[in-house]
Amino acid sequence: MNIQTEIKSAVDPTKLEKLAEVAVKVGLQLQSGQDLVITAPIAALPLVRLITRHAYLAGAGLITTFYADEEATLARYAHAPHDSFDRASGWLYEGMAKAYANGAARLAIAGDNPMLLASQDPAKVARANKANSMAYKPALEKISNFDINWNIVSYPNPSWAKVVFPDLPEEDAVRKLADAIFAASRVDVADPVAAWAQHNTNLKKRSSWLNGERFAALHFTGPGTDLTVGLADGHEWHGGASTAKNGVTCNPNIPTEEVFTTPHALKVEGHVSSTKPLSHQGTLIDEIQVRFEGGRIVEAKAAKGEAVLNKVLDTDEGARRLGEVAVVPHSSPISKSGILFYNTLFDENASCHIALGQCYSKCFLDGASLSQEQIAAQGGNSSLIHIDWMIGSDQIDIDGIKPDGMKVPVMRKGEWA
Ligand code: ZN
Ligand code: ZN
Repeated sequence: MNIQTEIKSAVDPTKLEKLAEVAVKVGLQLQSGQDLVITAPIAALPLVRLITRHAYLAGAGLITTFYADEEATLARYAHAPHDSFDRASGWLYEGMAKAYANGAARLAIAGDNPMLLASQDPAKVARANKANSMAYKPALEKISNFDINWNIVSYPNPSWAKVVFPDLPEEDAVRKLADAIFAASRVDVADPVAAWAQHNTNLKKRSSWLNGERFAALHFTGPGTDLTVGLADGHEWHGGASTAKNGVTCNPNIPTEEVFTTPHALKVEGHVSSTKPLSHQGTLIDEIQVRFEGGRIVEAKAAKGEAVLNKVLDTDEGARRLGEVAVVPHSSPISKSGILFYNTLFDENASCHIALGQCYSKCFLDGASLSQEQIAAQGGNSSLIHIDWMIGSDQIDIDGIKPDGMKVPVMRKGEWA
C-alpha cells in the first residue's frame, strides 16, 4: 500500500478536487435527483470518491460505480477458455441501458494502460472487442444518440503514465501526466468553471460560422494528403457544450478542442496520411496512408500495425467509411504540450481528425427527430466501430467548398483562416 500512497501524493489534491467539480458541474451538469452510473479503472479510486462526493452535493439521487481491473483482464487472456472471447456481460449493459432509459446520467473515467493487451493474441483481442461492442450496443446507443447527459474525464493511472513517459521513474511519470491532464482539462486556473464557460463560447463561435457557411465539402491538402470530405446532407457542426435529448446542456468530453460534424458516407475522395500514431487496443498504428473512392477506403497501408488496421477495416461494411470529421487548430493546448497521450480523448484534441465508422445523429439539423433510415439517406454512416485518427498538422490547409464549387479558406498552416 506504500506505493499507492506515494503515487497518490504525486497527484496534486487541489487540482484533482477541481477536476471532480468540473466533471460534475461542467461535464455532466448533473441535475438534482438524477441518478449516475460511473465506470472507472480501479486505479482511479481517489477521483471516483471525489466525484461521488461532489455529485451527491449537487443533488445526485443514487450513484452506482463499476470498476475495471487490469490484472483481472490479463488473467482472462491467460486462463479463460477459448469461447470466453466470444462472450460479453450483456446483462450488465442491458442494466445500464435501463438506467439511462430511466434518466440516469453517465460518467466514464478514462486512464487505462493503452498497451495492456499489446502482447496478447490479436485474434482473441478482436473477438473480445467485437463481442463487447455488440453487447454494449443498447447502452452505447443511448449515449451516442445523446439521450442523456454524459461525460468522460481522465485519471493519471500509473500504468498509463509509464507508457506516456517510459524513461521517468513511476512517481515522476504520474506527476507529469497528472499535470498534463489538469492543464488540458482547464482545471489549473483559479476558476475552472468560468474558464469552461469562456472556452464553450469560443467553440460555439467556430461551429456557428461553419453552420452558416453550409459547405458541401472540406478539402484537406498537405504532405501526403489531398482529400475531399463531402459533408452529409443537413449536417450540423458541434463543439464544446451541447444539449442532450433530456434537455441538459453538458460537456461530454473533457478535454475538448474540436468542432466536428458528419461526413457523407458515399462522398469522400482522394488520399490522406496520418500525422500522429493511433493507439488502438494495445497496438500502435503509425504512418497510415489510405485512399478513398466513393466514400470507401479501397487501399490502406501503415508503416506499423498494418495487420491490425486491416482487421479494423474489416469489422463491418461501415468500418471503411467515415463517421466524423473534426477541425482543431494546431495551436491547441494539447498539441502545444507535445505529449503523445496514447489516448484518443487527448490525442484527437491535438489535431484535425477523421473517424472511421459510426456517425453521431446529433450532428444533423434536427437530428433528434431523424430515424436511422433518414440518417442513412442523408449520408450518415453506421458501424460497430468509431475510431478517430489524426490528420492535422501545421502544414495542413483546409478549404470549404460551397455547393456551387466556390472555395472559402477554413485553415491555413493548421490555424483558423
Ligand atoms: Zn472528434
Ligand atoms: Zn470521434
